[in-house]
Amino acid sequence: MEASSIYTGPVFEMARKQFETVADMLDIPAPERTRIFMPKRTLAVSCPIQHDDGSVVVYQGYRVQHHLTLGPAKGGTRFAPNVDVGEVAALAIWMSWKCALAGLPYGGAKGGVAVDPRALSPRELETLSRRYMQEMLPFVGPHTDVMAPDMGTNEQVMAWFMDTYSMNQGKTVLEIVTGKPVDNGGTVGRREATGRGVAYLIGRAAETIGLKINGSTAIVQGFGNVGSVAAVTLQAMGVTVVGVSDHTCAYYDPKGLDVAKLEAHVRRTGVLEGYSKEGLFDASELLVQPCDILVPAAIERVINGKNADKLQCRILAEAANGPTTPEADAILRNRPEIYVIPDILCNAGGVIVSYFEWVQDLQQLFWDETEVNDRLHKTLERSYQAVSTLIEKRSLSARDAALSIGVERVLNAKRKRGLFP
Ligand code: NAD
Repeated sequence: MEASSIYTGPVFEMARKQFETVADMLDIPAPERTRIFMPKRTLAVSCPIQHDDGSVVVYQGYRVQHHLTLGPAKGGTRFAPNVDVGEVAALAIWMSWKCALAGLPYGGAKGGVAVDPRALSPRELETLSRRYMQEMLPFVGPHTDVMAPDMGTNEQVMAWFMDTYSMNQGKTVLEIVTGKPVDNGGTVGRREATGRGVAYLIGRAAETIGLKINGSTAIVQGFGNVGSVAAVTLQAMGVTVVGVSDHTCAYYDPKGLDVAKLEAHVRRTGVLEGYSKEGLFDASELLVQPCDILVPAAIERVINGKNADKLQCRILAEAANGPTTPEADAILRNRPEIYVIPDILCNAGGVIVSYFEWVQDLQQLFWDETEVNDRLHKTLERSYQAVSTLIEKRSLSARDAALSIGVERVLNAKRKRGLFP
C-alpha cells in the first residue's frame, strides 16, 4: 500500500499494520487497499484564544473523515497534549471498522486539539471549544460528520459545540453532535454507554471461557468516563475491583477497592490522587498484577512488547482505543489462556448509543433508559456473536475476526457503489 506523507506516527502505523494483516486475509488487491484505508479528507485548523491573563495562544486542531460510503462520518473529539494528525487519522480509521462491525450507517471520523484541557480555566475551555467548532463549520454537518466526546471532552463541551453550530445556523440543530447533556437533546444512557457496553461484553466473554463473573477480580486503568462506569458496572455484577489508576496515581488492594467512594472522590476533585494514603501502587506495574479481568480504559499502546508476556489476566477487555500494539498482539496470539475483547468491539457501546441519540434527535422522539439499554445490548450481542462465529470458523484471533468483519463491510459497500465519476 502506498505510504502517505501527512499521516505518520506510531498510532497510525498500528492502524496500518492491523489493516494490512486483515487485507491479506481478505485478499484485497493493492489499489483497493489504498482506497479503503486512506482517509477521505482532513482539515487542520489553528484556534487562537485569549487566555485569562490577556495573552493569545494558538492551538492546533484536526478533523479526519475516513470514509463517508455508508453514511455520515462519526467520531469523537479528543483534547489532549500529544494529539497529532496521524493519531487522529488512526482513530478515525478504527471508528470506520467499529461502526461497520456494529452495523451502523456511518463512516468513521475523529477530531482533536493538541491541548491539556486541565490546564485551562473553564472560560478558556469554553472559548477553545467554541472556536474549534467555529473552524469546523464548513466541514461538518448532521448528515456529513457528527461529533461526540472522547478523551478530555465531555457533555459540557458537546453542549458548546451544539450551541456554536446552532447559532451559526439560526436554529437549534441537536443532531450535529452526540454525547450532549440530556437537558440539551442528549439521550439517557449515553454517558454510561461505553462503560456499560464494556461490562456487558466482559460478562459474555466470561460465559464463553467458563469464568464465574461473581467473585472474579478486575483491574481498570483510566478512571474517566469509560473506566469509572466500567468499574461501577462490574462491581454491580459481583466483580471485585482490586486495582485502578489514572494519570495521577494508582491504587491496588487484593481484598478489593471501594469503587463508589473512588468515583465520588473523582467527581469532587477530578483525579484519583488524594483519595487515600493507603493502597498507593506503582502505576507502571498495575497492568501485570494478577486479576481475572484487565480493562485498559485510558490511552494507546499500554500493552506492548515489554509487558504482554507478563499479563496475568484471563480476559483483556480493550475499553480504550488501540491499547495493544501489534508486537503485543503477536505475543498474545501465543497465549490462548487470555481472551481478548478487541477495542472495536469492546468500546462500541459509545458509538451505538450515539447513533441512538442521533436517531432520536432527528425524529424528535425520545426513548426511556430501558429501551436504550435493551437496544444497546441487542446490538452488542449481534456483534459479539458475529465475531465469535468467525473466531471458531476460521481460527482467527478476536482482533482479526472483528477487524475483518468491519473492513469487509466497508469494502463491499464501496464495491457496490462503484467508483465515481
Ligand atoms: P476521559 O478523559 O474521560 O478519561 C481518561 C482517563 O484516562 C482519565 O482518568 C485519565 O486520568 C486517564 N489517563 C490518562 N493518561 C493515563 C495514563 N498514562 N495512565 C493511566 N491513566 C491515564 O476519557 P474517556 O472518554 O474515558 O476515554 C478513555 C478511552 O476510551 C480513550 O481511549 C477513548 O478513545 C476511549 N473511548 C471513549 C469513548 C467514550 O464514549 N468516551 C468511546 C469509545 C472509546
